[in-house]
Amino acid sequence: MSAFRWLAAAQFVGAALIAGLFGQSHAAQPDYAPLTVKVTPQQLTPRVYFVQGESGMVSTSNNGYNSNAGFVVTDDGVVVFDVLGTPPLGAELLRSIRAITSKPVRRVIISHYHSDHFYGLQAFKDAGAEVWAHRLVRDYLATDAPQRRLEERRNSLEPWVDETTRVIAPDFYIDGDTSFRLGGLTFRIFVVGPAHTPEDLMMLVQEEGVLFAGDLMFAGRIPFVGDADSKGWLASIERLITLDPRIMVGGHGPASTDAARDLALTRDYLVYLRRAMGRAVEEMASFEEAYRRTDWSRFKDLPAFEGANRINAYNTFILMEKETLSGK
Ligand SMILES: [Zn+2]
Repeated sequence: MSAFRWLAAAQFVGAALIAGLFGQSHAAQPDYAPLTVKVTPQQLTPRVYFVQGESGMVSTSNNGYNSNAGFVVTDDGVVVFDVLGTPPLGAELLRSIRAITSKPVRRVIISHYHSDHFYGLQAFKDAGAEVWAHRLVRDYLATDAPQRRLEERRNSLEPWVDETTRVIAPDFYIDGDTSFRLGGLTFRIFVVGPAHTPEDLMMLVQEEGVLFAGDLMFAGRIPFVGDADSKGWLASIERLITLDPRIMVGGHGPASTDAARDLALTRDYLVYLRRAMGRAVEEMASFEEAYRRTDWSRFKDLPAFEGANRINAYNTFILMEKETLSGK
């Protein structure tokens, strides 16, 4: 081999090695902390699946797997709705999709930017999917709240959320109700906030009759009312019921074949909170007093009551004060 050819070959091997190293580190999944929970898809219709997180709040024992995600396998690729609450859970969701189809994941719709629904985005971005969310997510991402939440999760969900976890912004912002077709199916996206959050979206897979409702429905647990507009939320629940989906998947809990019945807990809880806290605001009682004198017995045995009820009541108290002041 001439010196020139040897050099060219060495350069080629070197370049290939470098490309291999860098190419691979870009495409391969990072070494995520192993999960002790299983992400198992349940088939709802011929083309629609969902995975169901454990009930209750996020914890180290559930590895942060307390929320749902869904995916739709069309002839031209996969559409995903929400991606679970940590990068390894997102990677596991993607693996479970890969076990069902080799078709590419085209699009990921995020119902709202609560960490338990979008921290799994990393694997999907690396796989080339396009991320859609409501335009108000841009406003949220411009505050310091996402970074504060990430710090909190790095503590509470370590090692599944760590220094390599990043907040991934959408590629495309939705401004109003919209729809698209992919692989023979119609996907209708509804803007339903302000409700659970300002930016709530739902997705109806029209031909399959499946509605992904995000956190508008909490099945079998106390809802999280953190930054919710409960008045808007109740109105959105009414709209959801009129869609009359064959199957509905909420952000938490089992899928439902009777939207009106299974939304009753979320609806009753919101109505109860608003009545109890609204009365206290009217009587100018303090929050402490209002909380103490409210009878919570109807809800106190439900999952997430301990973790969520007091903060829900407090936020509703503040909301009712604001509504009273603004004459809403
Ligand atoms: Zn949420």
